Amino acid sequence: MKKISIIGSTGSIGVNTLRVLRAHPGKFQVITLAARTQAEALLKQAIEFRPKLVCIYASENFSWLRDRLKSYQIRVVSGDEGLLKASAHPDADQVIFALVGAAGLQPIFQAIQAKKNVAIANKEPLVMAGELLMKQVKKQRVKLLPIDSEHSGLWQCLEGYGKNDVKKLVLTSSGGPFWKRKKSFQTISLEEALKHPRWKMGPKITIDSATLMNKGLEVIEASNLFGVPADRVDVVIHPEAIIHALIEFVDGSHLAQLGITDMRLPIQYALSYPSRFVNSIPSLELTKLESIRFYKPDRKRFPCLTLGYEAKRIGGTMPAVLNAANEVAVQKFMDGKIKFTQIYETISKSMRKHKSSHNPSLSDVLEADRWARTEAESLC
Ligand code: MG
Repeated sequence: MKKISIIGSTGSIGVNTLRVLRAHPGKFQVITLAARTQAEALLKQAIEFRPKLVCIYASENFSWLRDRLKSYQIRVVSGDEGLLKASAHPDADQVIFALVGAAGLQPIFQAIQAKKNVAIANKEPLVMAGELLMKQVKKQRVKLLPIDSEHSGLWQCLEGYGKNDVKKLVLTSSGGPFWKRKKSFQTISLEEALKHPRWKMGPKITIDSATLMNKGLEVIEASNLFGVPADRVDVVIHPEAIIHALIEFVDGSHLAQLGITDMRLPIQYALSYPSRFVNSIPSLELTKLESIRFYKPDRKRFPCLTLGYEAKRIGGTMPAVLNAANEVAVQKFMDGKIKFTQIYETISKSMRKHKSSHNPSLSDVLEADRWARTEAESLC
């Protein structure tokens, strides 16, 4: 039995991870579960999966949960320290990280340091400190398994090849809700932005998909994960969202990864790797596909994508600034404080004010993250 921990178990990825575990009884043992605030959902999960340790990050929910789990002999911890404990529990072989935003960065480092294989669903840590993370992964001789669907696709295509074999990595984007919009982007409402045509995901990533910042972040993520420069990572709009990623090799041959849009597929592969499990997830029916189309993204209407390339080209602490300013701006948009188009403006202004330091340490990255949050707040 593989012993796993799930950090961020009540969010969309966490819930899907537990669905995968439920579908494969006897293959996995849950060691820890961690959630930010949703104590009731976490309680239910804990009673079903009986982990050794549970972390509720929000301290106001700590005693409520502890009292309810006492009779099950499940230890409950809380706050930053609790989160680090849950991430590096000595009994776990593999840790699934699915915390929204930058919050996952330190716990991931902690898990790698404790020689755990890490499966990462949220892209922010790989954007902020991807190079540092990959160095640590090499040093500790552990595996970093991507769950982000495009990167899972790239990883599957690249299996057995080195970066010298690769001419280009291609990430696909469904285009989000606005790639065909004729009306001005100035008047986009929160409700419109939250209506993603293909994927059902958490609100932050759904807004990122609407601005195409999600692809900007994914370019940085892919470049860091696979050691390929950002100018060799392409993005294409592919409305059917059937092909998740492609590789073009140096000899001109292309390899693509296809599948239905269901996050359980990349999650299961990160859990079953290097083997594959039979499951009851519906198959992709090739003969029902009417077309497979590709379009060039409109960089003028979706300038956030260009910011992603820029941040990676500048390097150092700039990707952390891009990421932090984006998190703040997206939150402000969701709170009704700024317009959709001001998400780009906020990030762009924050980046222009930042002096990137090269070869940053983890504390430099965290400092840049804090600086950008304050800066973006004041701009909003
Ligand atoms: Mg993705």
